[in-house]
Amino acid sequence: MVSRQDAVLNLSHLLTRAPGASFEAHGEGLLVPSEEEQRHDGVRLDGPLAWRVTVRGTGGDDDLIADGEVSGTAVQECRRCLTDVRAFVRADFLYPMTYAPAGGKALTLIEAPLAAEGGDVDPSEGGEDRLAFGAPEVDFATLLRQLFAIEMPLTSLCAPDCRGLATDGTNLNDHPDHVPEGATERTERSPFAALEDLDLDPRS
Ligand SMILES: [Zn+2]
Repeated sequence: MVSRQDAVLNLSHLLTRAPGASFEAHGEGLLVPSEEEQRHDGVRLDGPLAWRVTVRGTGGDDDLIADGEVSGTAVQECRRCLTDVRAFVRADFLYPMTYAPAGGKALTLIEAPLAAEGGDVDPSEGGEDRLAFGAPEVDFATLLRQLFAIEMPLTSLCAPDCRGLATDGTNLNDHPDHVPEGATERTERSPFAALEDLDLDPRS
């Protein structure tokens, strides 16, 4: 499969409804977000993102349904010892899609309005997130990157019993017996040791 920086599906045959036209568009591939895109998303990737997207006509007036998934390997720092940890991340999605030529060309995720306190949401407003697109050629790359980033774990551990770092930065997983210089004295000193320096003798 060819690695690319976009994830374009052409939905024109779903929009024209030519007789005999298929009511489905399918695409899959490997997406390679640029360094800049990864920085923007707060993601560090080890390899490309594998994706697949299928868009189907629902038989209704204008409505389409997009479903798909994106997966790949993210690199995060262990929250205790800061070494790189690789995590396999997979996100799938299912959104209604609306063709809105008046809007911008790019694929946009429109989040469902939150119910106002004490009020009701009009069901016709749609209580679900949906995608809007303004041109038959739809690039899903940004959406796929966002869904992947959202699915990433907030923090990672290299191992459940990671020992973390000593105060001098030594990795205690590699050097379990390491004691940072000066640490013995500090830790073994009584919390009241500072009182020894107080001169309580009124005669001096
Ligand atoms: Zn660790």
